[in-house]
Amino acid sequence: MSSPLFDLTGRVALVTGGNGGIGLGMARGMAEAGAAIMVAGRNPEKNAAAVADLKGVGAEAGSVTVDVTDAASCEAMVAATQERFGRVDCLVNNAGTAIRKQAEDYTLAEWQEVLTTNLTSAFVCSQAVYPLMKAQGGGKIVMIGSMMSIFGASFSAPYSSSKGGIVQLGKSLASGWAKDNIQVNTILPGWIDTDLTVRAREQVDGLHQRVLDRTPAGRWGKPQDHAGIAVFLAGSGSDFVTGTAIPVDGGFSIFI
Ligand code: NDP
Repeated sequence: MSSPLFDLTGRVALVTGGNGGIGLGMARGMAEAGAAIMVAGRNPEKNAAAVADLKGVGAEAGSVTVDVTDAASCEAMVAATQERFGRVDCLVNNAGTAIRKQAEDYTLAEWQEVLTTNLTSAFVCSQAVYPLMKAQGGGKIVMIGSMMSIFGASFSAPYSSSKGGIVQLGKSLASGWAKDNIQVNTILPGWIDTDLTVRAREQVDGLHQRVLDRTPAGRWGKPQDHAGIAVFLAGSGSDFVTGTAIPVDGGFSIFI
């Protein structure tokens, strides 16, 4: 019999960027543990495909079109989830983007695009869901950081800044909302094979092999490698875990 600590039956998870990559990997894990899932992304076709995928594992699933850079759209996303499922137990702030250039070459608009998509959106979505979680008696918020929350890179000034900031945002929300029984934690994925890193492998010379050489597990990560941590952070097993940043990286961050 499965442990109730990892059973998400009756819980509702809202996953931004849940229509592919790491977001869908986490959504699938939570769906298999019994959660109903609201997939939130910009692309309606990808949203529909993700919902079909989640229904395929027996979950209740729906989708909402959102642009997380737009505050009104984020508020509408939370309202749509409440309308569809009646509650939000877990918000996963996963939507993200990257623009890779040398620091001196970014325009201000590019800097702002990355910061708004990766960091400001997490603040706005968390603020939007807070009154509902408070009224429900608690909830879980999961942030998605990166190895760039720890390290820097010559090609990632805005991305690293956003991913460093998200850890600090997580700690701040965790400190403020613990009184409301809301736990806020950050996952730090290693190098994971997704649409985002297909482009990185094209743009950064030697990246593929460098990641293999530095990762003790000897491989790039897969979206489904994040299923277990998502179930843990969305369930009652993590009720006394808050404000942390947990690497899911095959050992990348502990090996030089
Ligand atoms: P993907 O490109 O596969 O996923 C990005 C997701 O974000 C898509 O679902 C996309 O939806 C959504 N998204 C982007 N911009 C917006 C927006 N403005 N509004 C709504 N949704 C948006 O990449 P990953 O799965 O790799 O990335 C997911 C998260 O993981 C990101 O935060 C990324 O920074 C982080 N991460 C990834 C790592 C990796 O190695 N892959 C490593 C560390 C962190 P749509 O297509 O509909 O626009």
